[in-house]
Amino acid sequence: MIIAIDGSAASGKGTLAKRVAAEFGYDYLDTGALYRAVALSLLNAGAKSSNIDEKQAVKAASTLDLSLTQTAEIRTDQVAALASIVAAIAPVRAELLSLQRAFAATPPSGKGAVLDGRDIGTIVLPNADLKFFVDADLDIRAERRTKELLQAGQSVMFRDVLADMKARDDRDRTRSVAPLKAADNAITIDTSTMDAAAVLALALSHIDRVCPSE
Ligand code: C5P
Repeated sequence: MIIAIDGSAASGKGTLAKRVAAEFGYDYLDTGALYRAVALSLLNAGAKSSNIDEKQAVKAASTLDLSLTQTAEIRTDQVAALASIVAAIAPVRAELLSLQRAFAATPPSGKGAVLDGRDIGTIVLPNADLKFFVDADLDIRAERRTKELLQAGQSVMFRDVLADMKARDDRDRTRSVAPLKAADNAITIDTSTMDAAAVLALALSHIDRVCPSE
């Protein structure tokens, strides 16, 4: 069973993906962490967000140190912003595509995989068994992200988080390659007024409908 979960920043897609994977003993891949890791490796090499060299970005993706995906350093808004800039470069996406497809084809558990991102249901795994598109009101998402970043010890202000998130969403939705959008057959969940438990329960009811034996 392969489940694709796409959605906007801080919509709750990552939390949902982790919980669905845990529920069934499936493996989870946070594909945003791959783009963040490419961005972090560029920043570590001295790159500036305002002036990204495409060739350097493609090289960073093709020689990516996957251990970077597990670091706390990728979780800053500076890295997220650069991730969305490099994610708009088609050859960068191409470098990361086979890794994502291979994970879904042979998940370590041998049971199933849950991948979350922006283009999983549309480009990476168009034949996924089930696709969700998770979204929420921008202000609510920015509030959630502000709380998360403050809890992680970063000093941020709501207004800046909101502006960064809006700019990132716009870039992700309007880029020409693999833009953020719901796949035609995706189930949309608006998490604006739902907590994580309610979102999980709703998703599980859809999974049960599609695959009652799970
Ligand atoms: O999901 P997360 O917020 O960590 O993703 C960071 C950025 O990586 C996104 O804003 C988006 O530009 C990019 N991304 C993408 N395709 C994916 C996952 C993430 O373009 N499948």
